Amino acid sequence: MVQWKNPADVEQTAVRPIQYSHADLHLHTVFSDGLMTPEETVDLIATRTHLRVIAITDHDTVEGAVVAQSYAQKRNSHVDVIVGQEVTTGEGDVLALFVRQTLPMFDTAAAAIAAIHAQCGLAVAAHPFGVGVDCVGGLIGNLPFDAIEARHGCPLNYFNNWRAHELNQRSQRLPELGSSDAHIPHNAGEAYTRFPGHTAEDLRQAILSNRVVPGGWLWTPLNLLRTFGVIVQRGWPVYVRDAEAVHLE
Ligand SMILES: [Zn+2]
Repeated sequence: MVQWKNPADVEQTAVRPIQYSHADLHLHTVFSDGLMTPEETVDLIATRTHLRVIAITDHDTVEGAVVAQSYAQKRNSHVDVIVGQEVTTGEGDVLALFVRQTLPMFDTAAAAIAAIHAQCGLAVAAHPFGVGVDCVGGLIGNLPFDAIEARHGCPLNYFNNWRAHELNQRSQRLPELGSSDAHIPHNAGEAYTRFPGHTAEDLRQAILSNRVVPGGWLWTPLNLLRTFGVIVQRGWPVYVRDAEAVHLE
């Protein structure tokens, strides 16, 4: 027997809007050159920002991300934590998202991307034309990245963000993400990625289907002052990228 729907229900279903959330997919903790612990990072982001998903992407280790993810899960936080890493390569930094184990340093960005994909992770070109950072630059035009960071929170990258977007639109048209690259959680969410849904898995699907949009803009002067205050309190983070200490592929 045919079940007829109430027309009012059909109308309600048809106009139900898609729910969008914000994610910040490039954050550091004391496990590399960040200023706060993974626990402090999760707590501050959960209470001070609108973010629903974050990725901890310390340089050359997933340890901080694993700690943050398990802390958020134990506390039943509304913030989903993705295990990530900022992978050092001889051609510039590559963000690994949704990985399980620490990746080594690589000579080439292509080798890093292949290793990230082997862990079923997503490879993102970090700050492709960033100032004062190691970046893959024009390689975003042809390497098999899953996305690029087209909006990076550092004020020095105002024009470089535009440059990355322009090259991407003229080449592979990869999904474009916004991320703060915050080294204290106060900057988290100042540049962000908008996506349909609210979980880490929703975000993954949104990247794979290119339904993400970079949002926000740059670190604010107030939070730059806060960063300075935390540095005065806790000292400058001592972190050296040591190719000798990490197995170089
Ligand atoms: Zn970074």
